[in-house]
Amino acid sequence: MAIKTINPYNNKEIKSFEEFSVETVEKKIAQADKTYQKWKTVAIKERAELLMKVAALYRKRKEELARLITLEMGKLIAQSEAEVEMCASVYEYYAKNAADFLEDKPIEIKDGKAFVRYTPIGIILAVEPWNYPYNQVARVAAPNIMAGNVIMVKHASNVPQCAAAIEEIFREAGAEDGIYTNLFLSSSRIAKLAEDPRIVGLSLTGSEKAGASLAEAAGKNLKKSVLELGGSDPFIILEDADIEKAVKSAVKGRFGNMGQACTSSKRIIAVGKIADEFLEKFKEKITGLKVGDPMERETEVGPLSSEDAAQKIEKQVNDTVKSGAKVVLGGKRIDREGAFYEPTILTDIKPGMVAYHEEIFGPVASFYKVKDEKEAIALANDSTFGLGGSVFSENIERAVEVASQIETGMIFINEHVASRPDLPFGGTKRSGYGRELSELGIEEFVNKKLIRIS
Ligand code: NDP
Repeated sequence: MAIKTINPYNNKEIKSFEEFSVETVEKKIAQADKTYQKWKTVAIKERAELLMKVAALYRKRKEELARLITLEMGKLIAQSEAEVEMCASVYEYYAKNAADFLEDKPIEIKDGKAFVRYTPIGIILAVEPWNYPYNQVARVAAPNIMAGNVIMVKHASNVPQCAAAIEEIFREAGAEDGIYTNLFLSSSRIAKLAEDPRIVGLSLTGSEKAGASLAEAAGKNLKKSVLELGGSDPFIILEDADIEKAVKSAVKGRFGNMGQACTSSKRIIAVGKIADEFLEKFKEKITGLKVGDPMERETEVGPLSSEDAAQKIEKQVNDTVKSGAKVVLGGKRIDREGAFYEPTILTDIKPGMVAYHEEIFGPVASFYKVKDEKEAIALANDSTFGLGGSVFSENIERAVEVASQIETGMIFINEHVASRPDLPFGGTKRSGYGRELSELGIEEFVNKKLIRIS
């Protein structure tokens, strides 16, 4: 099967790549394993030098790398450039901080001495999505390479040029073959690959279905896994919130990356009397945005990642509206070629409707008006997902109290959820398990070895 780049701006095929044969994959695993035997002994300073070079190359080649993202999955060009910068900062962050994170951790005991030493474990297989093609990979590659592991990445089938570019950057930075390996593979071959004893850890960012399949393979083979899956993040605006600030943040939180982020502010929950004012201002901000080519800087609404993605959103919205929800804005495909869908706001969404339960991975805000804080918390928690969320209030103590009652892995107060290298990222419930980024991210795939001296 060929792996294809299709430009979602016009649905034209640009390039295709052949899937790797079984023999090629075997050679690559053997190389990764051989390299790991050396890499695990390399001084952390040397590992850091490699990642600093990787970061510098991302910055140097920013324009060209950003264009590839936009070409393959339609992200607005300025946002693609911002992603390249973010990705560089993830590599730098781990290059600078990993030595501290990986230091021996002494344990206070009464008799003798004990400490925990972090040691590498081997090859980590990462299955990654298209929505942030460089940054999602950096979040797994940077901590693991610093920890002394090596990485093999099966990237999403619609971003093969980005996938190849990452491997090329590592090569250009001087990484020995096998430290970072790109695998052109279809997802149906991942479960088999997970059986290989040389692969010791599995990480996936993507849908629940893909996550469950990887977790099953990990379970069967007794391997550690980390899953970053979907989300339906609540964005709660309490009555004492700064409305202007909340509106601005909701626009970015919901419509950034055309709504295709696991932590997009998908469910906007406004409390009491401020709800109508919020909705009016929110709608105003996303009305009349300029639709067009994502390569053009003045474009504000670009395509979704693929025609399939646009059709899926269309169906989810139509089904929700058929069962009684109201369209305040948008609600249909944009009448032009390409994977376009109008920025949309839905209201009057009730339990049982598609938008109430499913994640909508596109530019569709589900707006809820609730009576009070208690109702807001109950609605926020009435979801199978538990990734992130936001609470807006001028009373920080109160906002923290609300935050502590929401069943998610992350809550941002007076801000939409945003990933940063120094903050842990991950979810609970059906949004997955484990953490990426920060010190927690480097602890996932290491052996926390106890050394006891009596
Ligand atoms: P998928 O979960 O299908 O794809 C993500 C990655 O998983 C891709 O590399 C994909 O490969 C791979 N994959 C898919 N199925 C399997 C499997 N059975 N075993 C192993 N790997 C697999 O996401 P989609 O791109 O189809 O998007 C669908 C939904 O996923 C979205 O609507 C959203 O809900 C969620 N999603 C969440 C993301 C997040 O950041 N948490 C990111 C992207 C999607 P291939 O492309 O070859 O199928």
